Amino acid sequence: MSDIRFDPVTGNWVAIARNRLERPTEFIPLEQVRQQLICPFCRGNEEETPETLAAYHVDGEPLSEDDEPSSWTVRVVPNKYPSFSAANNVGFDNGPYDANSGLGSQEIIIPSNRHVASLSELTEEEMHVTFTACQHRLAIMRADESIRHGMLFMNCRSAAGASLGHVHLQLIGSPLISQHLQGRLSRNLESVQKHGQSLIRRVMNWEQEKKIRMIKQTDNFCVFCPFASRFAFQVWIVPADPQGSFIECPAAKRNELAHLCRSIVEHLENLLDHPAYNLLLHMAPFEASDYDHWYFELFPRLTCAAGFEWGTDIWVNPVSPEAAARRMQ
Ligand SMILES: [Zn+2]
Repeated sequence: MSDIRFDPVTGNWVAIARNRLERPTEFIPLEQVRQQLICPFCRGNEEETPETLAAYHVDGEPLSEDDEPSSWTVRVVPNKYPSFSAANNVGFDNGPYDANSGLGSQEIIIPSNRHVASLSELTEEEMHVTFTACQHRLAIMRADESIRHGMLFMNCRSAAGASLGHVHLQLIGSPLISQHLQGRLSRNLESVQKHGQSLIRRVMNWEQEKKIRMIKQTDNFCVFCPFASRFAFQVWIVPADPQGSFIECPAAKRNELAHLCRSIVEHLENLLDHPAYNLLLHMAPFEASDYDHWYFELFPRLTCAAGFEWGTDIWVNPVSPEAAARRMQ
C-alpha cells in the first residue's frame, strides 16, 4: 500500500511506499545483504518471487502450461515491495495538498536465469527476448485504463539504486502524469505547432547533420550524447524515424536496439571501470503518443546530486558531451 502525494510548493509527486520497509535489504549495506540472500532471480529459486506474470523461451515464445517451469530464459514477476500499488489516500483531509487515489503496477523483468550483474554479460538472444518481453508488458499496461504511463528502467549496481545484484529491469505503470512529463508534453506540442516536428526529431536531425556529439549512426538509430547532458557520458539512443510508442517498434529494429544498448554498456564499462548505470525508456503517456516520440537513455553514475542540484534542479556536469562522444566513438 502506498500514498501518492502532490506537493503544491515544489510541484512534485511522491510515492510514500511504507511496505518497502519490509524489505530485508532496506537500510542494510547492500554488499553485506547480497552475500546472505538466496538470489530470487536465479533459475531454481522461482518460489522466492511472487507468482510469474510471464515467461519466455530463448526464441521469444512464451512458456506454455506443459513446459517445465524452470525452462525460462526471461521471466516477469510482480515487484514484491512496490513503490506504486493500491493507493491509500481515502479519508485524507488534504488542505493545501493533493493526492492520487489511482492504482499502479510494478513489475520486474529478469533478463537471464544466470546470476549476471550487467547487460554486457547477457547473450544477444537474452537481450532480444528481454526487449520482446518489455514490449509485451508495456502493451498489456496500455490496455489497462487505470494506467496512464509506463516507465521502463534499469538500475545496475547499488550506486544506481539496484537492491539485488542479479541484473533486472523494472516497469512501473503509473496512474498519474508528473509535472516533468507534463512539461515535456507541452514543449513537444509547441514544437509540433511551430515547426511541424516533434522535439526528438528536430534534435536528432540536428545531431545527424552536425555530428559533433554523435557516437554511432545506423539506418535505424542515432546514438549521441545530448547537448545539455546532465551527467558525464549520458547517451541517447534515438530511432532514425521517431515514433510515438515503443510498443509499435518492429522486431528487427527492436533487436538492433537491444544490441546497441548492450554494446554501449560494454563500451562504458571498459572506459570507466564498470560504473553503476541507469537505462531508461522515455515514452509519452499512452494518451499522448502521437506528438512525443520515444527514445532510450543510458548514463553512468559517476557523480551524485549535491545541494545546488537539489536546490535549483540545475545539474553540474564535469565532462562536456562533445568530449564524452569523442571518447565513445
Ligand atoms: Zn541470481
